[in-house]
Amino acid sequence: INWFPGHMKKTRELIQKNLKLVDVVYEIIDSRIPLSSRNPEIDKLIGDKPRIVVMNKSDLSDTNINKEWINYFNKKGINTLLIDAIKNKGISELVKQTEIVIKEKKERQLDRGIKNKPIRAMIVGVPNVGKSTLINSLSRRKSAKTGDKPGVTKGKQWIKLKGNIQLLDTPGILWPKFEEQEVARNLAFTGAIKDEIMDIETLALKLVEKLIKIAPFKLEKRYDIEIKEKSALEVMEKIALKRGAILKGAEIDYTRVANIILDEFRSGIIGNITLERPS
Ligand code: GDP
Repeated sequence: INWFPGHMKKTRELIQKNLKLVDVVYEIIDSRIPLSSRNPEIDKLIGDKPRIVVMNKSDLSDTNINKEWINYFNKKGINTLLIDAIKNKGISELVKQTEIVIKEKKERQLDRGIKNKPIRAMIVGVPNVGKSTLINSLSRRKSAKTGDKPGVTKGKQWIKLKGNIQLLDTPGILWPKFEEQEVARNLAFTGAIKDEIMDIETLALKLVEKLIKIAPFKLEKRYDIEIKEKSALEVMEKIALKRGAILKGAEIDYTRVANIILDEFRSGIIGNITLERPS
């Protein structure tokens, strides 16, 4: 993804235009990387519009750390919930929270004699957090394109949710803070940015280094290895031996083992793992 300041300016303008149409914003993030998958300017962009942080891919993240993040956001006064956009889990909670954040506005409308006005919502988030998947699931329309183009498109349609909520069918696509190395790496681990940011052998090695720190038992269990005092490279080589990623002449096939590790992390096969914790 190539984000130039020009794009950002245009995206910002498009999102601000659409913001005027809605009562509430659903900020979708990846629950495995709740900080790295947030846009750094989101607060400024949204201003005082009611917002709900929607932590997606809950099927892949760590249940206990999810609770820490929900606490973290709640302490900042931001309503937060977990969803699984593929299985459409968490939608009733989303409706419930929407009614909570919109309560005051509803009461003002009632005071002015306005009844049953639909609540309008829009989804924003950086690429790959699951915006299109969620919209497709909710609209049961399987053909909508999933793309990484900045901004939002014309020809708006509204998807009906329960609780008289209408969701804009085009998400606001934000940019991640990928100039920061740690953030770029986390995005690459989850597959949000392409493997080209560094060679995949190095990327997998960095991931192993991280997993040794935060989820050593899951790594040991998945690959039937012992980590003990081993370096990340040694662990990677152990995994290669276990999985037969060997070239002719008994050499380690680093590319193949890197692909195995990255794929199995991304699909949750190594376990439910969250890479970032609230500090
Ligand atoms: P967008 O760029 O924000 O619109 O993200 P997409 O909807 O294109 O989703 C990016 C990738 O994440 C796709 O491969 C989806 O299948 C996957 N995905 C989306 N939501 C979930 C989820 O809740 N769980 C899992 N495991 N994968 C998801």
